[in-house]
Amino acid sequence: HAKKQGGNTYCFNTHDQNNEMERYYQIEQEIKLALQQRQFSIVYQPLINLDSNQIIGAEALLRWENPKLGSVAPSEFIPLLEELGLIIPVGDWILKSVCKQLKTWQDNEIFLQKVSVNVSPIQFRNEHFVTDLKQVLEETQLDPQFLELEITEGTIINAGSAMNILTELKDLGVKISIDDFGTGYSSLSYLKKLSIDTLKIDKSFIDDLDSDGEIIVNTIINMGRNLKYTVLAEGIENREQLHYLKHQDCHEGQGYYWSKPVEVDDIPKLYHHSINSLENSLN
Ligand code: C2E
Ligand code: MG
Ligand code: MG
Ligand code: MG
Repeated sequence: HAKKQGGNTYCFNTHDQNNEMERYYQIEQEIKLALQQRQFSIVYQPLINLDSNQIIGAEALLRWENPKLGSVAPSEFIPLLEELGLIIPVGDWILKSVCKQLKTWQDNEIFLQKVSVNVSPIQFRNEHFVTDLKQVLEETQLDPQFLELEITEGTIINAGSAMNILTELKDLGVKISIDDFGTGYSSLSYLKKLSIDTLKIDKSFIDDLDSDGEIIVNTIINMGRNLKYTVLAEGIENREQLHYLKHQDCHEGQGYYWSKPVEVDDIPKLYHHSINSLENSLN
């Protein structure tokens, strides 16, 4: 806590800044070794169909546990991976791991309709992205329709050849979702031309449902439905939000109301539990 008055403030701020720089430097050093030292892991957050209440998919989310730093938040380390260019090898590793995992689940009769993977703008713009992905799909023998790539509006706008890349990805057979939808600057006419599958309404709008965010959410749902996209609401935390979104015919949701992101081994349990409760409700 910096003192408000006196010369101490200067000293204290410098101290804080030094700490900040020290942490940044330490993270930078540590993250360079993280991939080869197997410090990254992937957790999965269930995606739920709001009609059937069933788990129909999962979003893969990266985690970093470092012996010295403990667990570091994605909001802190993802930008650094991007800055250092490490998001390319790490992103490759994620895609390969997720495809393998999905294949394993399918072999064990866990039939998720999709697993989604976040793709950084740096990855998306990388000239080898599509060919590398193609290779991963061939190696893992995964049917591409089960893989959904999450990109943001910013990714589309900042990649000059976004339209071409998206077309190539669609030709591969993978699905595309727009993540954090509503927070970027994509034009609606552009959106209509894109061959995407899912709009993910950003959590901030779902948070606002409790106050006066209903108009925005309704507008996004209606627009998405009219454009024949699947509409998913992110960050559903309570029953009121869920009821409202169901009533507005939002297709899918994810959030702490059902589950936080979980370890890979927990997904089969959650999946079977949701199938069983559906069967019970039909009996
Ligand atoms: P995102 O893709 O929008 O992911 C959703 C984030 O919201 C996740 O945070 C998830 O844990 C959190 N979340 C989901 N439901 C709720 C809820 O009901 N309440 C609250 N408070 N939070 C909820 P996480 O895992 O910390 O990831 C943050 C962001 O980091 C992601 O946002 C994504 O942009 C990025 N990220 C995570 N993993 C990856 C990755 O593998 N690659 C890339 N490029 N980015 C990633
Ligand atoms: Mg996402
Ligand atoms: Mg999101
Ligand atoms: Mg979000």
